Amino acid sequence: MKNLFTTFLFFLFISNANAQIDIIHPPNWWVGFENQNLQLLAKGNNISEFKVEIDYQGVEIKKIYKADSPNYLFIDLNISNSTLPGIFKIKFKRGLKELTHNYKLENRRNASQQNEGFDSSDVIYLITPDRFANGDYSNDIIKGLKENKIDRKDNYVRHGGDIIGVTKNINYIKDMGFTSIWLNPVLINDMKEGSYHGYATTDYYTPDPRFGSMDDYLDFSEKASKNGIKLIKDIILNHCGLFHWWMDDLPFNDWLNYQEIYLKSNDETIEKNTVYSNHKRSTIQDIYAAEVDYRGMLDGWFVPTMPDLNQRNRFMAEYLIQNSIWWIETLNLSGIRQDTYPYAEKEFLSDWAGRIMKEYPKFNIVGEEWSYNPIRIAYWQDGNNNKDGYKSNLKSTMDFAMQKAISEGILEEENWNTGLIKIYENLANDFYYSDPKSLLIFNDNHDMSRIYTQMKEDVSKTKMAVSLMLTLPRIPQILYGTEILMEDSAKPGDHGLIRTDFPGGWKNDKSNAFTGKNLEDSQLEMQNYLKTLLNFRKNSKAIHEGETLHYAPKDGIYLLSRKYKDEIVIYIVNKNNKPVNLDTDRFVEINAVGKIFTDIQTEKRYKWNGKIQIKNNSSIILSNK
Ligand code: CA
Repeated sequence: MKNLFTTFLFFLFISNANAQIDIIHPPNWWVGFENQNLQLLAKGNNISEFKVEIDYQGVEIKKIYKADSPNYLFIDLNISNSTLPGIFKIKFKRGLKELTHNYKLENRRNASQQNEGFDSSDVIYLITPDRFANGDYSNDIIKGLKENKIDRKDNYVRHGGDIIGVTKNINYIKDMGFTSIWLNPVLINDMKEGSYHGYATTDYYTPDPRFGSMDDYLDFSEKASKNGIKLIKDIILNHCGLFHWWMDDLPFNDWLNYQEIYLKSNDETIEKNTVYSNHKRSTIQDIYAAEVDYRGMLDGWFVPTMPDLNQRNRFMAEYLIQNSIWWIETLNLSGIRQDTYPYAEKEFLSDWAGRIMKEYPKFNIVGEEWSYNPIRIAYWQDGNNNKDGYKSNLKSTMDFAMQKAISEGILEEENWNTGLIKIYENLANDFYYSDPKSLLIFNDNHDMSRIYTQMKEDVSKTKMAVSLMLTLPRIPQILYGTEILMEDSAKPGDHGLIRTDFPGGWKNDKSNAFTGKNLEDSQLEMQNYLKTLLNFRKNSKAIHEGETLHYAPKDGIYLLSRKYKDEIVIYIVNKNNKPVNLDTDRFVEINAVGKIFTDIQTEKRYKWNGKIQIKNNSSIILSNK
């Protein structure tokens, strides 16, 4: 009897397991997109044996695809322009069995709210969410997730910071003068370790509960928007996390690159078996590159914990494209920062960016090409006249070349080919870019030694570098904590150390950068300095879109001016150990003679005539408005 009962329970369990749709992605969609096609991924036990029916005015099933795994179906829908928002039933039928899934179609946001991208009028504040502020202690540890501890003394485990912590401090960010926020990724990373950084996604539609719920994320978006702050989402198309839910049951035999190696590995052997990317990013454009090197760059895995996605599989490609659009619409995003740009298939990247830009023409996307070569940076920017005909559809790329030039230019001894000449000559490369002012410039980021450390903890030099960056024809990005001289000097470049906690983000922190409590004088000075500069920049058309003019460095002095109609902004840096009485005669082309300028920091006024005194080891920004 007992056996029979157990057997009965067993069959009940099996039939229940059968009778389930585990996943439909995207989880909802909208009416009114330019592209009327939608491809649903449906996952459930033996779902491929089911017929699919939808009965809803305007929604038509165009085609249904089986995958290599019997537990997936891909369903192509057409959603006509006249379709009304509402909920429709997707019926899965097999024999007498019928499963139903309710699917929601919503109206898109109003055109007036439509996703205005970030541009050179903005300054982006880059935040590592685990390390900025802990707004909710109850989400620090979530039962059932693989990494289940916090330890603020260990820079490679979670510290408890979250989205709510950013939301609570939006006024601080706004008052500082930032206009956009880029958060390092906040989607779920249910990984055994290192989950704090967020680059190993284990579900593309779920925020990490340790960063907050979907409602917390929506609330953040709404409060940011109310405060005039644009949101930029960090998206990773190249790889996912090793514990992504699809890793247990991959839809296709070519869902991943080197899938066969993954399938014959286990937790212990995966690291040894992994075929790594050769990181030869130049092969993407190199007309002489060996195919084996080109594929080795694209198909190799970044690290053993991050499976390399195969975007040549068109279902994978569609999944990723729709996912990005889903987040833009859901969170009212203004932009995307696309991680490890050249590591994904470039034809796919072009489609991905093109599809987004078609739905959101004012949107902006910045791609991460970590190259110091302007030719390679330029290749990825839309409008570049690439010989191979490649069209990227990407408005912005990261300007690592200029970043390096600024650091070296400020730090190095002045000589024939070192020091300021590097800044001058790098900016001269702008002739090659299709749109230089849409490149993203930065002094550092979450992967790179902090600017204060780069500048050997010299406050003056840090100011010279930061203020130049903010004056260039670019979109500037500043890493959280730059304003209080955060550093990684104990071990320059160490990722955990770069991403140190922002003081005041946790209860009982000894110092508090939000209030100024217990900050050192130099930190307060830098914070004020940046606040003044950012708030000035916010209203400076000359910096946002003005003409640029610069003069070859001479005797340790470099001058750059920006001009829009009557407004002139002049940046001057003096690297000498003594004050310089600068003769302005040489700079007649600025057309500033006789005009009154104000030092935006000290409010000291100057008449642009004869000589201007610049303090030793310093930079100034002058404005005639
Ligand atoms: Ca928390």
